[in-house]
Parts: sequence; C-alpha cells; structure tokens
Amino acid sequence: MRETWHERFIDSPGVLKGAAREQTIVRVLDFHVGGNEFITMAGPCSVETEFQLMATANHVRRAGARILRGGAFKPRSSPYAFQGHGLEGLKMLARAREESGLAIVTEVMSEDDVPMVAEYADILQIGTRNMENYSLLEAAARSGRPILLKRGMAATIADWLRSAQLILNNGNPNVILCERGIRTFETATRNTFDVSAIALLKQISHLPVIADPSHAAGHRELVPVLARIAVASGADGLLVEVHPNPEKAWSDGEQSLDFAGFDAMMYDLEPWLELRGRELERREGDGALPMEAVG
Ligand code: PEP
Ligand code: MN
Repeated sequence: MRETWHERFIDSPGVLKGAAREQTIVRVLDFHVGGNEFITMAGPCSVETEFQLMATANHVRRAGARILRGGAFKPRSSPYAFQGHGLEGLKMLARAREESGLAIVTEVMSEDDVPMVAEYADILQIGTRNMENYSLLEAAARSGRPILLKRGMAATIADWLRSAQLILNNGNPNVILCERGIRTFETATRNTFDVSAIALLKQISHLPVIADPSHAAGHRELVPVLARIAVASGADGLLVEVHPNPEKAWSDGEQSLDFAGFDAMMYDLEPWLELRGRELERREGDGALPMEAVG
C-alpha cells in the first residue's frame, strides 16, 4: 500500500514513512511532540493584555496543556480588525513562558519578522493563509525553530505535504502538521474538519499531526467533540483557543472555550486518550481539577 501513496505524493518523498524514518519526534523545551505524550497547545487567538495572557497560561497549564498559543501578528479577514500587538505581544508571550513553564507557539506572517519571532517563540506557526508562501516557509525553516504548518484552507493534502517538504529541504526536519479545517460548500461551520486527512497522514507520514478544532468549527460548542474525534483519528495533539472571557475576546471569541469549558474538554478526553494508550501528563503538584470545572 505504501508504494501507492509514494507515487501519489511523489513531490514530497521526504515526509513519508519509509526505511529512513517511521516517526519524527520534535523536541520542545523538556517534552516531545509526536512521541507518546498527547500534546495540547492552548491559549487565546490574540495576545490582548498581560492579565488575559497570564491568567490563561496558568489555567491551561493546570489543565494539562504543554504549549501556550497566542497571536502577536494576526492575519485578520478585515483590515479594520485588531492586527495584533507585534513585538509587545511577543514579549508578553515570553513572560508567560517564564511564569508558567509552558512553551510558546505563535504565528509569523512575514519573512522579515522571522528572526524576531524566532527569538521569542519555541515554535513558529505558519497560518492557513501562508501555507503556500514559499519565501516565508524558507525563512522560517532556516530559523531552526520547529514549524507548526497549518493546512491551507483550500490546500489538498499533496499541496500541504509539498510545503512540508520545502521546510525539510531547507534543513529543518521539525515540522508539525496542523489540520484546521478546509473551505467547502458548507457554511454552518467555519470550515470543514477534514478528519480523513489526519487518519491518512498518520498512516503515511512520519511527521507529527495535530488538530485545531477551534478554527475548524468556528463555534465553541463543537470544539470538545471535534477534539475527541481528533484523538480517535490518531492525532498527536491539539491546538485550542481558550479565553478568560470569550464574549469580550478581540478575535475569534465565538470559537474560544472559557476556562471551565477547557477543563471539561480535557477531563473528558482522558478516557479516549487511555483507549489509545496515550498519556496526558499533568504537572506535578497540580492536583485534581476543581469540581465545578469538570461538571
Ligand atoms: C490562528 O491560529 O489564530 C489562526 C489565524 O489560524 P488559521 O491560520 O488556521 O486561520
Ligand atoms: Mn484564531
């Protein structure tokens, strides 16, 4: 069977499982993405205020997240919407890492910003709108930081894997693929969560694959169930938007979980992760979740 997929993805042989590599394990701080631990990246869509970021970091850490997400450079659909705090946002993220011990993933939108974002972030996120921005991909790859490569909203799996191959070809083997939903004729959800892409990639590619149920769904009530489906499909982790007060979020509030919602999702995922033999480690001394959080 593998031979057939090798023919289909002929332009990206280096990302496919084979004699050379069965699984890429990306080291980040003191843990790994793509190994036995299920890794959750969580945080607000945009870095807004010090309080918002710190409160979220401390909360998601206690609930089992390993990585804090938050946009300092925001690709917004409207030119009039909040575009992100830029360097100030990166500094806030770095302070949140210091305080919480979480690693940082944040989006880089321009080649020119790569050195600055790479100085502050542990993982560089390439957003859906930039998956085929090849000069950005090359610059990000050369930074040496692991790359979270989101699927283009209109990209086929072959297009996506070609972009991953380009990063590998620029000397960076640490690519994490992120399925975040694709555009289809359906408009009830923000995007269509392509779970078969995750299932297929877990069979044919050695790269870690994570799921972003937030941008796929566009509505917070769908996020926990899509997260569960992601676990069942074999994903190595999640990227989830969490905000202390989603109603007041500066971006993507509708799809953001509040703290209790995030706790409940993480708690409910545990038996599904156990079925898969995956671990979700809570930090030592974190203790049990408060009862109101899991009800
Ligand atoms: C995000 O993660 O906030 C984001 C903008 O994601 P995407 O590129 O998938 O739309
Ligand atoms: Mn967002």
